[in-house]
Amino acid sequence: MNKKLSFDCIVIGGGLSGLTAALALSKIGLSVAIIDKTSLKMVKKNEGDQRTTAVSASGKKIFEALDVWDSLKEDAEPILDIVVSEKGKRGHLNFDHQTVGTEPMGHILDNIQLKNSLISSIRSQKNIQLFPFKSLNNFFPNTGAVTVDLNDGTSYEAALLVAADGRNSAGRRIAKIKDTNINYNQSSIVFTVSHEKPHKGTAYEQFTTGGPIAFLPMRGNQSSVVWSEDTEVVKSLMQLDDKDFAAAASYRLNDCLGEMAIIGQRKIFPLKLNYADTIIADRFAMVGDAAHGLHPIAGQGFNLGLRDIANLTEEISKARRLGLDIGSFETLRSYQATRRLDNFSLVAATDGLNRIFSNRNKIVRSIRSNGLDVINTIDPLKNLFMELAMGEVGSLPVLLKGKLP
Ligand SMILES: Cc1cc2nc3c(=O)[nH]c(=O)nc-3n(C[C@H](O)[C@H](O)[C@H](O)COP(=O)(O)OP(=O)(O)OC[C@H]3O[C@@H](n4cnc5c(N)ncnc54)[C@H](O)[C@@H]3O)c2cc1C
Repeated sequence: MNKKLSFDCIVIGGGLSGLTAALALSKIGLSVAIIDKTSLKMVKKNEGDQRTTAVSASGKKIFEALDVWDSLKEDAEPILDIVVSEKGKRGHLNFDHQTVGTEPMGHILDNIQLKNSLISSIRSQKNIQLFPFKSLNNFFPNTGAVTVDLNDGTSYEAALLVAADGRNSAGRRIAKIKDTNINYNQSSIVFTVSHEKPHKGTAYEQFTTGGPIAFLPMRGNQSSVVWSEDTEVVKSLMQLDDKDFAAAASYRLNDCLGEMAIIGQRKIFPLKLNYADTIIADRFAMVGDAAHGLHPIAGQGFNLGLRDIANLTEEISKARRLGLDIGSFETLRSYQATRRLDNFSLVAATDGLNRIFSNRNKIVRSIRSNGLDVINTIDPLKNLFMELAMGEVGSLPVLLKGKLP
């Protein structure tokens, strides 16, 4: 019988979470395999994920610690202000980064560029091996190792299997972990606009009765837009030509960035929530959307995944320092304990926000717009919201402070 190739850790999924997790684990000295259905190659603009991602201040620190930030910073647009308001209502919330420090609240990164930078860093790590065009078939935990079977008949061994294989995680299904799913019957249209007036580093989130629309600042007079509406409304919006569509988007924002023009294509993302009952099993841990997929209302999905990765890396590093088994139940239980509250709170908060702001009831509408005004006048409460958005609340794992554990 052929001897199986062995790693400290096998990561299933080479999306943003899997690539970041693999890089972090390799940087603390582990041998890592990444397995993905796709090519795991760098992609050209217009070929991959057209979205941008708002990465929080603490998320940026992870990329600094992993030596990826230098290749991202030139094109990363800082978020200096966030303005939250409701269409047709006076109440609004204004978060200015200067009230909590000098650093921006986050940065807008181009997903393709982020993925390419991660792949480039991974290629320079000798202790990571890439397995493109392969998918997970099954896995079998046993004493000291987990055997991972792939669709092409090959199998590999590791001390730990990390599933970063997204919302429909095969790893989660094979581990028989229950998952709560809510279909929002909403979709997001994602696109880029150029606009007449400068955004001055401001991210706008405007709530409308159909759903939120977010304008995220990009280099120059451009913003990346995530416009969420009921799926039926999305279908009609997609029928509009670029000119009318841009005018409709600008109207949603009370024309405060002036006239807009669409750049490139509009892409649709159906929205649902998924939340796994547990993020660990025997020699198995999940990170990113495999563990929790959120409504993009607060732009926090990947940030939450980054916090999974920071905590998992820290627990594994601790276990190694103490000479313990990195895939043992004790190590994984500590990981699960560090993530439970944060993951649940954000899933509940984003789900709740969407329900409150999509509610057409008059009383709820009045309470929420008054609520925005009230929060805006209470500095400690506002600062807490800002620190949450920056991912800087509670005791942080060291990767979120810009250092390797
Ligand atoms: C419209 C929209 C806007 C968003 N904006 C933001 C934002 O501003 N800020 C933010 O923090 N988050 C944002 N998010 C959330 C963010 O995009 C996701 O949280 C993130 O992309 C999830 O990455 P992932 O790697 O966990 O999963 P995925 O991106 O789903 O990657 C999973 C990977 O696993 C691979 N795979 C799947 N199954 C298998 C298998 N069986 N075997 C091998 N490989 C497999 C896939 O090929 C894929 O490469 C947004 C989401 C949406 C929908």
